[in-house]
Amino acid sequence: MPEKNVFQRIIDREIPATIEHEDEQCLAFRDIAPQAPTHILVIPKRPLRSLADAAAEDAALLGHMLTVIRTLAEKLGLQTGYRVVLNCGPDAGQSVDHLHFHLLGGRSFGWPPG
Ligand code: 5GP
Repeated sequence: MPEKNVFQRIIDREIPATIEHEDEQCLAFRDIAPQAPTHILVIPKRPLRSLADAAAEDAALLGHMLTVIRTLAEKLGLQTGYRVVLNCGPDAGQSVDHLHFHLLGGRSFGWPPG
């Protein structure tokens, strides 16, 4: 049995996290090393390693997660804007092999990203 990654352990409540939203499809919780005043990770509950592994049948799940992000941004008062990031693969800096969106807000962001 392969070792569980850290996000699967958060889903299974084996390690603590500050959870902001949970439903049958996804979980949203505060990033342990925030890069902005608001930094939340939104992950699917089912194991999906990265966007590169997503298939056509994952479209509804991905759309649902973006809707959750929009609702969270509203709830957390990010009216002046926010950034949504999904790192896919090593060149993008993906460090946990469980697909996740970053929701970042509470400051302004530069472009292009580093
Ligand atoms: P990535 O670099 O893969 O796009 O993002 C992974 C994110 O997971 C990083 O921002 C990192 O701070 C966060 N992270 C890693 N381990 C933990 C953890 O144990 N708890 C929480 N809440 N976030 C974590």
